[in-house]
Amino acid sequence: MSSKYHSKLSQLLHDTGGKTFGKAIEHFCLRTVPNLPTFLDNKKHALFHLWKKDCCCKSATPGRFKQVLKDKDWYSLFSRDPKAHTSCRGICACQFKAIPSISMQSKELDLTMKCMLISNVCPGPLSNPNYQAHVNSVRKAKNYIISHTDTTKIPEGDYTRYWNEIKPALCEIAKIVSEEFFKEIEDEIDGLFYEEDWNRRLKSRLIYANYVNHN
Ligand SMILES: [Zn+2]
Ligand SMILES: [Zn+2]
Repeated sequence: MSSKYHSKLSQLLHDTGGKTFGKAIEHFCLRTVPNLPTFLDNKKHALFHLWKKDCCCKSATPGRFKQVLKDKDWYSLFSRDPKAHTSCRGICACQFKAIPSISMQSKELDLTMKCMLISNVCPGPLSNPNYQAHVNSVRKAKNYIISHTDTTKIPEGDYTRYWNEIKPALCEIAKIVSEEFFKEIEDEIDGLFYEEDWNRRLKSRLIYANYVNHN
């Protein structure tokens, strides 16, 4: 076994997956608004209730509350609004505003955050259960990779199984963006899968540094 499987799955998820999900969010969420902060402000209330149960709206979230966003997640997207209602006690959604400088390119918008947005506040086809299932399989694979701190211990069977789940997930999501984007993503994934291309990639970028560290 080698750390190659770990590196390849990481690259598949974070680079290709991040790109696919980023493009899908731009396509389905950002076309009708000027920018990401506006979109986040429009979805602020729904997002707030993924972080805190109670707010001044008093509309207790239906069913059991499950915290999806940790403090650091919330504060990476929103900050206190100086013009907030001063009459509100405690913490509530109305006291916050999306951070104006945040964009799809911000490091805060990593794969985890993109999964969270697609799973919770993206409209259109992305909210369809089939696509939600794809997002879930990507999230599961990402958690699996994170939990394997010993990068050399990924069995080939797991590698193949996750690869065969992630590829169709990313391809299906790319397909609803455009046929052209689907081809780009499929090529990228296949290129990564085959060894020669992998060796060529090793000579470049971060991955090389990663590889050296792990071997
Ligand atoms: Zn309030
Ligand atoms: Zn509320």
